[in-house]
Amino acid sequence: MRIDLHTHSDRSDGTDPPRLLMRRAREAGLDVLGLTDHDTTAGWAEAAEAAAEEGVTLVRGLEISCELEGHGVHLTAYLPDPTYEPLVEELQRVLDGRNARLPATLERLRDLGIDIEEEDVRRLAGDAAAMGRPHVADALVKKGVVSHRGEAFNTLLGSNGPAYVPRYAAPLEAMLHTVRDAGGVSVIAHPWAKRHNFGALDEARFAALKEEGLHGIEVDHQDHDEPTRERLRAIARNLGLVATGSSDYHGAGKRDHDLGCNTTAPEEYERLLALAEAAADASGRKTPEVLVP
Ligand code: AMP
Ligand code: ZN
Ligand code: FE
Ligand code: FE
Repeated sequence: MRIDLHTHSDRSDGTDPPRLLMRRAREAGLDVLGLTDHDTTAGWAEAAEAAAEEGVTLVRGLEISCELEGHGVHLTAYLPDPTYEPLVEELQRVLDGRNARLPATLERLRDLGIDIEEEDVRRLAGDAAAMGRPHVADALVKKGVVSHRGEAFNTLLGSNGPAYVPRYAAPLEAMLHTVRDAGGVSVIAHPWAKRHNFGALDEARFAALKEEGLHGIEVDHQDHDEPTRERLRAIARNLGLVATGSSDYHGAGKRDHDLGCNTTAPEEYERLLALAEAAADASGRKTPEVLVP
């Protein structure tokens, strides 16, 4: 069984519509795909339709923009009730923050002599419910300022770049409670990716987060080198957290993140699903099924 639990469609900053993503999952030889767009479940319905057609199991999730001590932490949440009001409200706050950041980012670029209209970015973002820096990057590519998204991040949009503008992110601990109360399970995405790693997510902290409702750690990810993976795997083992692996596929939007480039072990996947079932029961919410074709 090949299981990839973290991917993006064009409902956030991936480039494939959900239907195409499901087809590519089949073509990549995946049995199970997790769709985890940033801060939105807008791709779930189309992916669900396509999952049956393509014969790929779909785990519906999302990657929530959180913060801990002022630093960004990405939380992948699987199978929460998407209608749970506190979740809906907090996601809307994040999406509003994304929308408010766009004009501010373009203002910074204008100060740098780069003129991009909000309309242009929104057109390039197409069906995206979650507007992000990658869409601004696409506009910079189109204008010929940079040659790909990565270069836009390296030179302008990255957190140390001259056109960086922060935005609202959900407090991590509160979000762990919200996901739990929505009947879902939580996995911290790429915790030790260099651009996120601020030293606070050590074993003691993971243990404390587990008490707040954390279920897993994404261990195998392109932003983790081999020693990092081994250390995180040991922490997951020590704490009884599920260890996942995934591609963080973004279509053409991110290099070196091909579907299935990292995968989750079937035993770990089964553990995560068992935890999700228990969370759903405890919450009393109507949560989405894993769609098995
Ligand atoms: P935002 O959510 O708007 O703050 O933008 C962050 C997103 O940009 C993340 O989801 C990343 O996947 C993406 N990203 C970050 N760095 C890069 C990069 N160097 N190349 C392409 N995408 C990136
Ligand atoms: Zn992304
Ligand atoms: Fe992420
Ligand atoms: Fe991601």
